[in-house]
Amino acid sequence: MRRIILLGPPGAGKGTQAQALQARWGVPQISTGDMLRQAVREGTELGRRAQGYMEAGEYVPDPVILEMMEERLAQPDAARGFILDGFPRTLSQAEGLERILEAHGIALDAVVDLEVAEEELVRRLSGRLVCPKCEAIYQKDTRPPRQAGLCDRCGSKLEQRADDRPEAVRRRLEVYRRETQPLIAYYRERGLLHVVQGTGEATLDEIERAAAAEARR
Ligand code: AMP
Repeated sequence: MRRIILLGPPGAGKGTQAQALQARWGVPQISTGDMLRQAVREGTELGRRAQGYMEAGEYVPDPVILEMMEERLAQPDAARGFILDGFPRTLSQAEGLERILEAHGIALDAVVDLEVAEEELVRRLSGRLVCPKCEAIYQKDTRPPRQAGLCDRCGSKLEQRADDRPEAVRRRLEVYRRETQPLIAYYRERGLLHVVQGTGEATLDEIERAAAAEARR
């Protein structure tokens, strides 16, 4: 069983690592960002509520996120474990998650904080390309698709996320520092925190080691 949270600023590699862990462990990556982007594309009520916040690089209000996650975590696939990517992002979301897990009688194994220097974050976000269909992630210079502009997995045309433009990136980093960084102390106090360097080849193995150490406790 694996139940982990990936914490870290935008551009730290949460989505990339979560997708790799999902393939290794066979438990779902649950990305609130992916879920919200899908809702925006489909034009659902949730999407309409979230879109303005997302484009501005602001957080979607906690009650909206918590309602969405309560529903998602009740799905049968999440009973086998999960990799939370981009949630929780505020103290109130972390407390809400604790209540949801308690209601299911389960607990987290580990919280992994991916550390990456700020210049590198900005570089990664400005060079990021994503597949709007399957959410695969590429980097213009360091992880390009095999065919320029097209997704390796599904062939769709790759895009730059609206919130990866420089103004939104600055805002997102500010909001991260103010709202999400306090979660590092929150989870450290609970004995769950593992800090992993988000640059280099060993990141995925280190996350696995952190999760395994906790699961054995
Ligand atoms: P991400 O793909 O994780 O970078 O998320 C993209 C955007 O979706 C964020 O900048 C927020 O606007 C919104 N979002 C995703 N997850 C959350 C969350 N847990 N709480 C609030 N807003 C979120």
